[in-house]
Amino acid sequence: MTLAELLPSTGCSTAPVLEAGLWPDGTRLDGQDLVIGGVSAAQLAARFGTPCQVLDESTVRARARAFRAALPDAEVVFAGKSLPCPEVYRWMADEGLSLDVSSAGELALAKAAGVPGDRILLHGNVKTGEDLKAALEHGVSRIVVDSFDEIAQLGALARHGQEVMIRVTPGVDAHTHAAIATGVEDQKFGFSLASGAALEAVLRVVEQPSLRLVGLHCHIGSQVRHVASYEEAARRMAGLIASCGVRIEQLDLGGGFCAPYLPGESSFDLFGFAQRVRGTLNYECALHRVPVPRLLIEPGRAIVANAGVTLYRVCAVKEGTTRTFVAVDGGMSDNPRPALYGAKYAVRLVGRGGRPKPVTVVGRHCEAGDVLADTVLLPADVHAGDLLAVPVTGAYHHALASNYNQVGRPPVVAVRDGVARPIVRRETEEDLLRRYL
Ligand SMILES: *Cc1c(COP(=O)(O)O)cnc(C)c1O
Repeated sequence: MTLAELLPSTGCSTAPVLEAGLWPDGTRLDGQDLVIGGVSAAQLAARFGTPCQVLDESTVRARARAFRAALPDAEVVFAGKSLPCPEVYRWMADEGLSLDVSSAGELALAKAAGVPGDRILLHGNVKTGEDLKAALEHGVSRIVVDSFDEIAQLGALARHGQEVMIRVTPGVDAHTHAAIATGVEDQKFGFSLASGAALEAVLRVVEQPSLRLVGLHCHIGSQVRHVASYEEAARRMAGLIASCGVRIEQLDLGGGFCAPYLPGESSFDLFGFAQRVRGTLNYECALHRVPVPRLLIEPGRAIVANAGVTLYRVCAVKEGTTRTFVAVDGGMSDNPRPALYGAKYAVRLVGRGGRPKPVTVVGRHCEAGDVLADTVLLPADVHAGDLLAVPVTGAYHHALASNYNQVGRPPVVAVRDGVARPIVRRETEEDLLRRYL
């Protein structure tokens, strides 16, 4: 922590500071206003209303480029579920990334964005007949199979030479929340390496004349902090490649690279990852005398999370017996992550400073668990009409939004070089009514 960051908490300075590492690149303070992508947050709220999800295009593109630069010979695949939006998919394609989707719906967005089939992978522990047919129709180059049922079903549906990968559960504990730890044994994703199911899946795919096995895949979880977790996954997957008995051309180590959500948390060590995972893979493949496969990785959160900021308007302030509740015009419908896995956020009041006090920021929904941020510091005189900004809302916010209480989902507004442009519009009552018969 720098001296400048310490000063406000000691009450020695009134100069506002921005928490390092959480906000989109280039975000700055203009007096007490927040400027994101060259656009004032106060003006964004006035023009587009609240809640509003702001997305800094330059930050998204810069992070996509950083992954490509760190691993120039790997295929970098954007995890499309983290921010499903055709315009964002176009930015990724522009930056040379491929795309993974996990349903016919996400594939429809990819098609709308003009992403060609040979740059798309299809994932999912359940793929319905419709998902598989849509993928075959669009010529999705790689389908990552996740069960024996799916291998049989896809084998019957596919034309000759459909490329597939096999999702493996390598038994690596990535030390993350149980709800997002997808690499440990005894869970719904993938074929277990330890039980021999993964090897059996290889045999089953090879038996299907319409399928061509091109690779193995694993995804050990999300918000993974330690490079060592990926090294362990690479080591185990190399062992599996050696015991397959068939040539494995591609190894996909999935996504999960962490993003900082709170002051003091660090970004993922991308450089360390690139060096150490490459090294491990080369070493293990030499040891087992198998050719080194082409590496794929699938970042989602690490590319888009810190590019997003959500703006809310304070609607009411209420004193509880032990806490002050600050209620805003959004909540678990635009951000269910605190309720789903206890996710924590920083919150900032835009437009005013003042002596801070701890408050609990809550949403508008009919659940006591609709808490956006428990115990954050806001100016003590926070009141209805104030504007709040919550950083690190680019990943799994738009994606996880619902219209609980028939609250329309917020827009996503892209900002870049002082220009704001909606890329997802606000959901209206008309949108809601359209589905009711
Ligand atoms: C969700 C997911 C990802 C992306 O995870 P992040 O934590 O957003 O990086 C990558 N691959 C697969 C298979 C996934 O399910």
